This record gives sequence, C-alpha cells and structure tokens, in this order.
Amino acid sequence: MNGCPFCPPPRHRTIRRGLFVTTLCSDPRATDNHLLIVPNRHVVRFDQLNWLERLAISREQRRLIRIMLFSLSAPSWEAISGYDLWQKFEPTEPDGPVKVSHFHWHLIPRRKNDELAQLSRADFTRLSEEELQILLARYRPGWRRA
Ligand SMILES: [Zn+2]
Repeated sequence: MNGCPFCPPPRHRTIRRGLFVTTLCSDPRATDNHLLIVPNRHVVRFDQLNWLERLAISREQRRLIRIMLFSLSAPSWEAISGYDLWQKFEPTEPDGPVKVSHFHWHLIPRRKNDELAQLSRADFTRLSEEELQILLARYRPGWRRA
C-alpha cells in the first residue's frame, strides 16, 4: 500500500516473516520489548483477514508470548507479571509516526505496578447500572436482566 510503513515491513526491524504474518520490533516503543504482529497483507480491520491469516496470527501471538514470558522471567530481568496484547482501529486519526492504518497488534510485557498499571488505575470508576444496561442491550441481543 502506498506510503504504508508495513508494506513492505522494514527488514532491519523484522524478527520473523512468515507466509501470512510478520513480527517487528516497534519503533517507537511503548516499553522495552514492545513487539508488533503485522499481517503481511494490507488490511485496516480485523474482519478483512481470512481464516488462514487469523490462524497464523494467533499462532505467532502464542509463540511470542511463550518466548516473552520465559526469557523476561530470567534472573537477569525484573520479573514480568504478564503482558498486554492489543490493537486499535482509529479511522478518524491520520497516519503518522505513532499511528499506522495497516492492521496490527502490539505485544508488550507488563511488570507489577509498572507505569501502564498506574495509568490504568488513575481514572478507574465502576459502571453505573444505566451504563451496564446499555452495554448489555447492545452486545447481548435478546438478553433481559432479571
Ligand atoms: Zn500496509
């Protein structure tokens, strides 16, 4: 795709390139060991991936998670407590150094009380009953709460 930084993926940041998916070192990075899991075919939404691509991506995610949990839990590292695996679909945001339309996932290790944990706790509030009912009605069609 014209102007897409993942078409083709940058070779100097490529960890592994398979038939359907490529793993890259992120640049910029949110944390140390921030990885990107990128479908080889340019799509902008998850539902545009075929089942072979979805399977390959899922397998690559599991492979990287195993490596991350094993290697970063070694004595030389501050033990990690888990990982975040996420993606965003933001068609309203223009592409730039930190936003790429080519659909991809971010995989980042998490440590107890890391900066992201502190940020996520900063504005945490519980759902109101009204908000809960709106969400349930939207995503559980036909469901009625007793
Ligand atoms: Zn692309």
